[in-house]
Amino acid sequence: MGKLKPRIHDLIGLLNTQFPPELAEDWDNVGLQVGDPGRALTQGMVALDPGIDAVSAAHAVGAQVLVTHHPLLFRGLKQLTPEDEAGRVIWSAVKDDVAVISVHTNLDSASVGLNSWLAERLEIQDAEPLRPVAGSFLKLVVFVPSGHEAQVSEALFAAGAGGVGHYDQCSFRIPGTGTFRPGEGTNPFVGRPGHREEVEELRLEVLVPQNRLGRVLDRMFKTHPYEEVAYDLIPLNNQLPGVGLGRIGRLEKPLSLKNFAGGVKDALDCDAVRVVGAEDVVVSKVAVCGGSGADLIRTAHRQGADVIVTGDVKYHEARSAEAMGIAIVDAGHFATEHLMVAALTELLNQSVKTRGWDLFFDAFTQETDPFRTC
Ligand SMILES: [Zn+2]
Repeated sequence: MGKLKPRIHDLIGLLNTQFPPELAEDWDNVGLQVGDPGRALTQGMVALDPGIDAVSAAHAVGAQVLVTHHPLLFRGLKQLTPEDEAGRVIWSAVKDDVAVISVHTNLDSASVGLNSWLAERLEIQDAEPLRPVAGSFLKLVVFVPSGHEAQVSEALFAAGAGGVGHYDQCSFRIPGTGTFRPGEGTNPFVGRPGHREEVEELRLEVLVPQNRLGRVLDRMFKTHPYEEVAYDLIPLNNQLPGVGLGRIGRLEKPLSLKNFAGGVKDALDCDAVRVVGAEDVVVSKVAVCGGSGADLIRTAHRQGADVIVTGDVKYHEARSAEAMGIAIVDAGHFATEHLMVAALTELLNQSVKTRGWDLFFDAFTQETDPFRTC
């Protein structure tokens, strides 16, 4: 049997399964940035930044898609010309027919993603999310007349309800009896106005990501046969296992901060790291957050971390960490994130193979840290 020919929208579906967009932070812009979802795909490229060099390199190897960590579009565009930075990239992506897709904070928080790769690279044992994702789901309970449960649940699934981790179409159904009395001027699906009815119904339950709620309710109202749909929306505080920003775990053997920082420098292949804390302090419990993780210093301290490895730490953040008594190894934004390029390339090539797709990803290897030490 020949290999399957995927399109951009198939790749988006694959990425959404691995790195659910609902894990992205509210301010983020993940997913397709530029490109035609219907375009056929045979070659892709993975990069950290959606720069002009990455788009050109993708085009040069005949790639139809560039998957990047940082989004291309953040602020509202007022004008699209090749005269500003983002405009230049969009211009050449359109001209070269290279679609750009971003997996950003959804990649950071996914159970297998940037922070799990960073923790693995630093040989942190039993790493758990530092800030688990909670409160981003609702439980939808809807009462459906018996025989109509398939059409309603299909509509809910299609609108994005019913996902649990890497499983989709998850629901629960309990049969029971619903009662109602249609009022004056109603046009009931079952029964007559003014008479109490008893109907065999199913209590159908699904999880709904907060950001799909509008679409899910819309589809529910459209497919449910009742004039007045009885439903409950229940806010949940579930923490998704293994999902969230940063990671925290233990080193196999405690190390002095000096030796640990040296190990981080080697593992992340950076010129230098900036360290907050005394050289001889012993570190055993380690937190990590790729990119800019200074917001998580206090959380890491509260969870008993001796040190946090991240990037972009500012002076006052370092001072307050010093006062709290948590060490910092700032290896830079680039070095704590660049490892995603090789890791995501490998993961995508494996997933593509499993699906039997005729598609291959190359890593863009020319990116360098804009900062150098001298
Ligand atoms: Zn970043």
